[in-house]
Amino acid sequence: MDIEDDDDDEGGALSSSSFTSSLSKPRVVVDRTPSRRQRPRLEALRQQLQKDQAIRPTDFVKNSRNTKSPNDEIEKKSRKEDDKEDKKRRLEELMERLETLPLPEEPLTDTFGRQHSYLRISLSERCNLRCLYCMPEDGVPLQPAENLLSNQEILKLASWFHDQGVNKIRLTGGEPLLRKDLVELVAGLNQLQNLDQIGMTTNGVTLSKLLPELVDAGMTHINISLDSLDADKFARLTRRPPAYHERVMEAIEDCAKYLPYRTKVNCVVMPDNVDEMEAFAEMTRQLPVDIRFIEYMPFNDNLWQPDGFISYKQMQRQLPGLQRIDDGPNDTTKWWQLSAKNNNDKGRALGRIGFITSMSDHFCGTCNRLRLTADGQLKVCLFGETEVSLRDLMRQEEGGSTDMLKKVIHYAVQRKHFKLGGHKDMIDLKAHSTENRPMILIGG
Ligand code: SF4
Repeated sequence: MDIEDDDDDEGGALSSSSFTSSLSKPRVVVDRTPSRRQRPRLEALRQQLQKDQAIRPTDFVKNSRNTKSPNDEIEKKSRKEDDKEDKKRRLEELMERLETLPLPEEPLTDTFGRQHSYLRISLSERCNLRCLYCMPEDGVPLQPAENLLSNQEILKLASWFHDQGVNKIRLTGGEPLLRKDLVELVAGLNQLQNLDQIGMTTNGVTLSKLLPELVDAGMTHINISLDSLDADKFARLTRRPPAYHERVMEAIEDCAKYLPYRTKVNCVVMPDNVDEMEAFAEMTRQLPVDIRFIEYMPFNDNLWQPDGFISYKQMQRQLPGLQRIDDGPNDTTKWWQLSAKNNNDKGRALGRIGFITSMSDHFCGTCNRLRLTADGQLKVCLFGETEVSLRDLMRQEEGGSTDMLKKVIHYAVQRKHFKLGGHKDMIDLKAHSTENRPMILIGG
């Protein structure tokens, strides 16, 4: 295991207290009462936030279990109210501070010189599976539909990010295929000029039927999550019927036809499926798809335990004789390939084998990724707990000020930690996992 111990205290995702206080040069003392009359846009935002409060159960959804006592529930409710007030106040402060700052001219670059050109957009908080490492067993409380971004809002935001240098977009979830207007959204994104990729990460259960339409609309890459080649084990890991397994296998074969060499199968390696790595790897001889083995990461209520963690090195021992091949510039994956079976190159692999080593050998140094949650929160790091609501900013008067929104995004990126959202390693991540969203609400 090779976990960095570098000091990255310079960073810190955008939020609130840490972010706003860091922008205090010069500190602006605001007289709130008169400023309301002088700042109609801020007042409109305040009113919007107050209105949202009436319909929004929570700004930040954390796992809730049915085993809580009534007192727990009362306490939780009051904590949520405090959270909402706090978020509202911090957003107001943030906007007031940013009004005095210039809009940066350079692309979305953080203090470590990393330029951000890849946006992952979550389209849904729902999923038709309950994978152990992603979704708490009881599911997560769903927000009302009006709290989630509409297609129009997603396209507007995507266009702003695109203007700031984003050239790769991936649609995630929850399960993105549960979004009814998905094909229209992909077609809308495809209107953005010079976008290199429109990808999607899906569980594949309902993919086959929609795949031709999605490809026609502009989808260029698909990642399918699959953690077992055995239907019964699949059912245990996903807590859903074994019959779904066949549908996922069909989806992989269909993707190999529609998007050859642009399809990846993502497998999170756990003690339950480590014995299947060789069988997964052999799929790359039959199909032009890549197989990626992913280290299990700790998230809010996802059952991660240190003794169940299987590192990159341990995975490699399961697959001796692989050949190392080149990685791309911002690749999260270390790429390898199966060797040919004989000298005639017969049995040569069509696809690659990759390892995503976020925990034992992170790749944060070349990170170019930003995330937008289904309810419109910007997350500058997968593991960062802090968020800023682009939805609330956008929904203010006249559809939101483009300059203010761009400033918020730029300054959020500038506050990004160097690695793992400011956490030291996976043990530290586990200790703080309840401060972040469950994986299902981030989009992976
Ligand atoms: S952990 Fe954060 S900084 Fe590291 S690669 Fe993932 S998103 Fe980027």
